[in-house]
Amino acid sequence: MMTKETTEKNIQRITRLAVNLLVVIIVGIALFLAWDRFLKPEDASASMNTAPETEAPAASVEETQSEIQVDLPNYAGEATLKVSAISRTANLITSIPTRPRVDVITYTVQTGDSVFSIADAFNLKPETVLWGNYTVLKDDPHVLRPGQVLYVLPTDGTYYQWSEGDTLASVSDYFGVEPSAILEYPGNRFDLGYAATDVEINEGSWLIVPGGQRETQNWGPPAISRDNPASARYYGAGHCGTVYTGAVGSGSFVRPTPTGYVGGGGYTFNPPVHNGIDYSGSAGDAIYAVDSGVVVYSGWSDFGYGNLVVIDHGNGWVSAYAHLNDVYVYCGQSVFQGATIGPMGSTGNSTGPHLHFELSYNGGKVNPANYIY
Ligand SMILES: [Zn+2]
Repeated sequence: MMTKETTEKNIQRITRLAVNLLVVIIVGIALFLAWDRFLKPEDASASMNTAPETEAPAASVEETQSEIQVDLPNYAGEATLKVSAISRTANLITSIPTRPRVDVITYTVQTGDSVFSIADAFNLKPETVLWGNYTVLKDDPHVLRPGQVLYVLPTDGTYYQWSEGDTLASVSDYFGVEPSAILEYPGNRFDLGYAATDVEINEGSWLIVPGGQRETQNWGPPAISRDNPASARYYGAGHCGTVYTGAVGSGSFVRPTPTGYVGGGGYTFNPPVHNGIDYSGSAGDAIYAVDSGVVVYSGWSDFGYGNLVVIDHGNGWVSAYAHLNDVYVYCGQSVFQGATIGPMGSTGNSTGPHLHFELSYNGGKVNPANYIY
């Protein structure tokens, strides 16, 4: 016969058992969930949800990279791929060689290369090589050196690093293209589902601007005349001072160096990339005034031309002689056609002895090869 006391004890025992059982069940469920969430080996379907998000794109970048490397131009030098924000997976069925390259690759400059030969090899304009590499070349083809690593754009245009405050409108306007040219270029990998105004571009990211153009920096000697040679004061130590009068040219020219010849590799008259012609020769070869005139610049230049002589011929013609080893003439001096003005050299941005020669008429650069034979 149960007393009230024993009944209460029984109820207490049952309750304790039930609570213990509940605790065991809860702990069991918790352990199972923990195992399922963190320890269970991932199968394909689970990894979609549980794998850290960064893993999947990294894997696809590598796939895409090895796939696109097949797509490199057939160039003698080595070219490597620059990977930037590629998120597409490789399509192994696509016939790669028939698809035009849309990505920027890098190219290491080899001995004997020129801006022009590199442009030629990748079927680009020489300006594109300069515009894609301002930080390396500073718009000067004479700065090219073996070992430099250049960006090779997939198409003619400019390469632009996005800065704070930029808008698609301002950037496309600056380079003279429509915003859609940038947005829709496959190599820039925009999601075309967005309206142009909604596109967010991270500061520091690089954009290909197909068909983009900008003024190329002209490092060449400024237009200097005997009327105001001091206007070239900013150009370097060789600038001259006051107004000069003196010899006036005939308008016909002799060669600036007898032993030299017009340099190859594209360094002919190629404005705006190369505004003169190069004569090869040996250090110390005599350099001659191509016509009579007054020296309006003589000495060091700060913009890559090394020792520079500029002669104003007084009839609209101005001639300039760069990379000289030394200068034999002084500011304001009248020189006569054929006078020696200095020895050939390799000063400034130059890889070997040569004369960089420029000729201008009424302030406009002309091709010296059309006037000097
Ligand atoms: Zn040159």
